[in-house]
Amino acid sequence: MKNLLEKAGIDFSDAEEDLICYGFDASRGFKKPSLVVWPKSTDDIVMITKTAFERTIPIVPRGAGTATTGAAVPSEEAVVMSFEKMDRILEVDIKNQTVVVEPGLINGRLQKELELLDFFYPPDPSSMEFCTIGGNVAVNAGGPRALKYGVTGDYVLEIEAVTAEGSVIKTGRKTFKGVVGYDLKSLLIGSEGTLAIISKIRLRIVPLPEAVLTIIATFKSIEQSGSFVIEVLNRGILPRCLELMDRYAIEAVEEYKPTGLPLVDAMLLVEIDGEYSTVKENADIIADICRSKGGEIQIAEDSISRDKLWQARRAIAPALHHLAPDKINHDIVVPRTEIPNMLKFLRNLSEKHSIKIVCFGHAGDGNLHVNIMFNREDEEDYKKAQTLAKQTVEETLRLGGTISGEHGIGLTKSDYLAMELGNKEIDLMRGIKRLFDHKNILNPGKIFP
Ligand SMILES: Cc1cc2nc3c(=O)[nH]c(=O)nc-3n(C[C@H](O)[C@H](O)[C@H](O)COP(=O)(O)OP(=O)(O)OC[C@H]3O[C@@H](n4cnc5c(N)ncnc54)[C@H](O)[C@@H]3O)c2cc1C
Repeated sequence: MKNLLEKAGIDFSDAEEDLICYGFDASRGFKKPSLVVWPKSTDDIVMITKTAFERTIPIVPRGAGTATTGAAVPSEEAVVMSFEKMDRILEVDIKNQTVVVEPGLINGRLQKELELLDFFYPPDPSSMEFCTIGGNVAVNAGGPRALKYGVTGDYVLEIEAVTAEGSVIKTGRKTFKGVVGYDLKSLLIGSEGTLAIISKIRLRIVPLPEAVLTIIATFKSIEQSGSFVIEVLNRGILPRCLELMDRYAIEAVEEYKPTGLPLVDAMLLVEIDGEYSTVKENADIIADICRSKGGEIQIAEDSISRDKLWQARRAIAPALHHLAPDKINHDIVVPRTEIPNMLKFLRNLSEKHSIKIVCFGHAGDGNLHVNIMFNREDEEDYKKAQTLAKQTVEETLRLGGTISGEHGIGLTKSDYLAMELGNKEIDLMRGIKRLFDHKNILNPGKIFP
């Protein structure tokens, strides 16, 4: 394969340091691939894929490797296809409110470019400063703003992709509406690199709102915070973010990077946007609801104090690294009304088994990031964490929820798939995988147990 790549002028490496760096993702799982390749165009992807297909060599597409599920961890002997050299914005069409981008474009870079034009791209995973649009599409990533604006899939209009045999397909369309044939585009969104390699994406963008206001609401009890969320939404106010941090998450951030967050049982970061007058009006209503539930309110009036609050929210992930060497990260979703019950359940588990379970997430969507902190080197701790992880999944499903809101299944959750889906549904999904990739060379071993 290397000879062919060299002849075609495609960048690749089998240096030990590259194989090690590209063998990880944010799940901390690791397998050493056999090669890393950096295509620069769709033609390069076609050439690499055709070669791999003929030789039955697995290909693992890779954005920035921020997946928390092992979705970007290669299988052994696999070729990792990294899109770092396909990171251009190819077209900006303000009149039609669309952009066309390459898969390796960093989400945050797109945001910065669009802001200069008074536009934005709503999906904002907390990893947006380093994750790629290709990776976002491949897992259908969400983010804090999903409550009002939806997730990645709501903004993808058209995808160009390369199939396992090396054919180029186009799915979706330029226009916002269109219902011709089966929706192959939606099949690719969230397919975690197992159906085709995404080479180009047309996205919908929206104008920047006139005003944005960030509010912190703190509560002495989880129940108070839960009842606050329900009332805000039922009063017809749709904040763009309603982010929750529990006491353990606040403590972890304060220990890691003190920002003066109040040490309360539950803190909600509420962000509203829209016309200036409506934002002001809604802020007053939110403040009243918060006080009526026994909470306290703090408003970030300027962009500096807003940034400070968001820095605290985004510091949770690095802060967790200081709590314990390992963590199991579930991104479960429960009906909004069940959030207090889920949090109480997790608090009880945590206290009963003396293992820290840190929770934060997108409360408006019912999407909680549950982090079970443990030490893999300690066998008893490891077993305990595995048991608690399974109990978390069981309770989530019992409450009518789902085991993943935005991170996907990858490797770490594939054992739970059959707890949520029936055999018939899983068989249909396996059939779709076979139809796209009968040799099973695209990101093998992911999603299905
Ligand atoms: C600190 C932190 C915060 C996070 N916050 C959020 C959050 O708020 N919301 C959220 O949804 N997620 C979040 N995540 C998870 C992660 O950032 C997202 O899943 C992100 O979409 C992954 O993008 P990536 O570029 O890193 O993709 P990778 O991790 O490299 O890959 C993810 C999957 O996409 C596939 N893939 C990548 N590129 C392509 C392509 N071109 N064609 C086909 N398949 C491809 C890979 O094979 C893999 O299966 C967070 C992660 C971290 C570490």
